[in-house]
Amino acid sequence: MGARSGNNYLSALRKLKADIWIAGAKVGDVTTHPAFERCARSIASLYDLQMEAPEAMTYRTDDGDRAGLSFIQPKSVEDVARRGRMMKRWADYAGGMLGRAPDYLNCSIAAMAAAHDFFAESDPRYGDNIVNYYREARKHDWCATHTLVNPRASRAKTWGGHTDANLALRLVEKTRDGIIVNGCRLLATLAPLSEEMLVFPSTVLRVEPEAEPFALAFAINCDAKGLRFLCRETFDLNRSHFDHPLSSRFEEMDALAIFDNVLVPWERVFLCGDPARCNALYGTTNAVVHMMHQVVVKNVAKSEFMLGLAARIAEVSDALSLQHVRERLAEMIEVTEMMRAFLRAGEADAAADRWGMFTPSRPPLDVARNLFPKLYPRMVEIIQLNSSSSMMAIPSEADFNSPIRAEIDRYLPGADVEARERVALYRLAWDAACSSFAGRQLLYERFFFGDPVKMASALVDNTNLKPLVERVNAFLKRAD
Ligand SMILES: Cc1cc2nc3c(=O)[nH]c(=O)nc-3n(C[C@H](O)[C@H](O)[C@H](O)COP(=O)(O)OP(=O)(O)OC[C@H]3O[C@@H](n4cnc5c(N)ncnc54)[C@H](O)[C@@H]3O)c2cc1C
Repeated sequence: MGARSGNNYLSALRKLKADIWIAGAKVGDVTTHPAFERCARSIASLYDLQMEAPEAMTYRTDDGDRAGLSFIQPKSVEDVARRGRMMKRWADYAGGMLGRAPDYLNCSIAAMAAAHDFFAESDPRYGDNIVNYYREARKHDWCATHTLVNPRASRAKTWGGHTDANLALRLVEKTRDGIIVNGCRLLATLAPLSEEMLVFPSTVLRVEPEAEPFALAFAINCDAKGLRFLCRETFDLNRSHFDHPLSSRFEEMDALAIFDNVLVPWERVFLCGDPARCNALYGTTNAVVHMMHQVVVKNVAKSEFMLGLAARIAEVSDALSLQHVRERLAEMIEVTEMMRAFLRAGEADAAADRWGMFTPSRPPLDVARNLFPKLYPRMVEIIQLNSSSSMMAIPSEADFNSPIRAEIDRYLPGADVEARERVALYRLAWDAACSSFAGRQLLYERFFFGDPVKMASALVDNTNLKPLVERVNAFLKRAD
């Protein structure tokens, strides 16, 4: 089949019988459920973009299909840049607020499949499995979620500092048909709207026999027997797009994944009982760098959206001439230009890796992913500072449709627009900077790629500091 349409995606979701729970009740059809329906339609719209602009959004695969470009295994710098442009179109659709558009995981599966030897060294079957899975995922254009982290009751006392053996997902037994796994994982963003889940290791495991049951990498269909998703409360309160412009569209949802003796067929197992290889998986396959590519594209789209919002707020309040407003806008321009520069450097310096994949240059993307969690909160703060009570003086659409409309029109005009347009803008500002949806976006940016302390540590590990240290040593020895 290859690149799918939005309708194809929605009808696949409708057929899926995943065990999804929210607010104490089991969900039937997510495409009609108030908590999920509208985000499902947004994801469908991303797929429709593939139909509307096939040249920009898809590519011809070796088996003759046209597949979504995020599945490409880049063979040139231009392929990487092409993928970046495709991802940008998806990211712009949601102003960067749909972090888990399907491209996030598509590019990681493509990278892992290219690095099939890495898996095959653990067991030849695993090498074949990852290639076959990639081909299937690309053929069906599956929408996938992923989960990396095990729950922990205590940060201090847990085994190895990372795994609470009583809670974590673990191998129960190997059978003729596959592996049986039990336990819990968090967090699976977009799980209710996904067909597939990638269960991968990110927690660093001790390389010792005790860690082996937790050293797992596999894919599972979201409606597998024994697999249950427990969602947080929804931030889509089913208000109009006017009232909640972002949360009524892009509520991508986060869920716990609970495994009750789930059978994972052998053909979907990529690693099992190999802690050293699990620890090395993302780095050695370079999947993490391809994911960073999608993340930095999203950062550009999100910075641009927030900057555009701040600029429009300055216009509507006739504040563009005020020095402090200009200084804050300049800060947001700096963030946006930084993200653009990191992305451009990452793409321009892409090179073939040991697996034959043209891979973006890691350092600029790695710096971008470490910086953005610190910079995005400031962008949100600037929206708050420049909007102030205007984000609270936001009558709803129902108010505009009521007898008090005349008073709203009279008292809430903007400098260059009537009240309705001004209020629409500040409702957007509220949904970007103050609402539950906004709070979740902030938390997402702080943590979704992992613990920021560990990410910073990885940046140090991946940076060759030796020549710089030697230069300082040489300077200290200089006689003149
Ligand atoms: C909105 C959102 C969406 C997400 N989506 C996904 C997803 O789709 N898939 C997925 O796999 N994961 C997802 N995550 C989870 C993400 O991977 C984790 O949040 C991240 O890895 C950090 O782990 P944690 O939340 O358990 O934080 P914790 O480990 O609890 O850390 C919390 C804070 O304590 C600090 N800390 C932790 N341990 C110590 C210590 N021993 N000493 C001192 N400080 C410590 C950390 O630096 C951090 O600041 C998501 C997270 C969020 C917030």
